[in-house]
Amino acid sequence: MVPRTVLLRLLLLTSALPWPLAADDTSLVISRFQSYLRINTAQPQPNYGEAAEFILAQARSLSLEAQTVEFVSGKPVIILKWAGTDPNLPSVMLYSHTDVVPVEQSKWIHPPFEAHIDGDGRIFARGTQDMKCIGMQHLEAVRRLRRSGFQPVRSVYIVFSPDEEIGGHDGAKKLAESEVFRKMNVGVVVDEGAPSPSENYRLFYGERSPWWLVIKATGAPGDGAKLYDNTAMENLAKSIETISKFRASQFDMEKSGLKGNGEVISVNMVYLKAGTPSPTGFAMNLQPYEAEAGFDIRVPPIADPEALERRIDEEWAPASRNMTYEFKQKVSVYNKHGKPVLTATDSSNPWWALTEAAVREAGGKLGKPEIFPGATDARYFRVLGLPAIGFSPIANTPILFHDHNEYLTKAEYLKGIQVYESIIKTLASYANDS
Ligand SMILES: [Zn+2]
Repeated sequence: MVPRTVLLRLLLLTSALPWPLAADDTSLVISRFQSYLRINTAQPQPNYGEAAEFILAQARSLSLEAQTVEFVSGKPVIILKWAGTDPNLPSVMLYSHTDVVPVEQSKWIHPPFEAHIDGDGRIFARGTQDMKCIGMQHLEAVRRLRRSGFQPVRSVYIVFSPDEEIGGHDGAKKLAESEVFRKMNVGVVVDEGAPSPSENYRLFYGERSPWWLVIKATGAPGDGAKLYDNTAMENLAKSIETISKFRASQFDMEKSGLKGNGEVISVNMVYLKAGTPSPTGFAMNLQPYEAEAGFDIRVPPIADPEALERRIDEEWAPASRNMTYEFKQKVSVYNKHGKPVLTATDSSNPWWALTEAAVREAGGKLGKPEIFPGATDARYFRVLGLPAIGFSPIANTPILFHDHNEYLTKAEYLKGIQVYESIIKTLASYANDS
């Protein structure tokens, strides 16, 4: 047992130092990550208060300026700032979200909010991959850089937003449109990417736009025993067959490796609605007068959206077969200047090459740039014309975000801190006026 006086002296000593003593005390680094993971921020009822308190305490320990903005009451966006030596240069924004997707407790081998570490060093918790790891890695990287005496030229913002998992409408979207954001004078955004099962990290330069399509067929109702043309069911079935062929052709390109999974147009049927209800289910001797189906379509910004829309109009829901269609959601692949919402990966965007160099500098390997198959908050910044890079420093790890038993190994987490250290150092030191 440690005598009380010694303990007290130790405590005083620690608190008198500007930065925590234990430079390489990985157990402290891991336990801070565990603390963040243990805060249950699962939608639909995230504990935003506790998460904010935790992040703000971290910010204080790092002497970062902190601002909490609630564009919507109870949904804090936390903005931490490490002021650069040249405040006139556009800043670097490191972005993460505090919320996580819900869990099915019973499917987990370790409780999802306990951050249990198993014998192989795997940390099990919701958010280990998506994306509490990154939020904490930003802070740990700053801690290490502070300790090394590094001074950023550009200001570095570390932003935590509340609601990416439910669309980001009250967080990222409102932030991107705000005066607060304009004043931050952001020049580049680094947001989440995806884990990689291989040794290569993945960098994302765009994402697909959701188009939620409903097609409807109508036709004369009739006796179930009669064969006649243009029934609603027959018309809808023809469309489903055509759409299935298109889906297969896109999927073939992905399976053969000709295109990445974010580069094809994905189409998935999500519901079918037809039939004449009866007390026991559906009438079995009636051909109904209408039938509809819903599709979740994801359109990459490198696709031709006009061609797709013509295809829908002429082949998937043609008026000639008594069909109509509507979009429940249709996010444009263009920004307000009519350009595809993509972050340039060529020399027109120095941030891309700088980020790649920084990752390699830290010993990371990279695959070719990819389009994110789903949606992230990065779109709200890309649509403004800002370069936004999607990156999660997670390699050699199965993709388990939104899945049961999400985990990240201690080693991979710690390596990610070094990668972010390199990214911050490189981006914040870039002195060209871009
Ligand atoms: Zn995420």
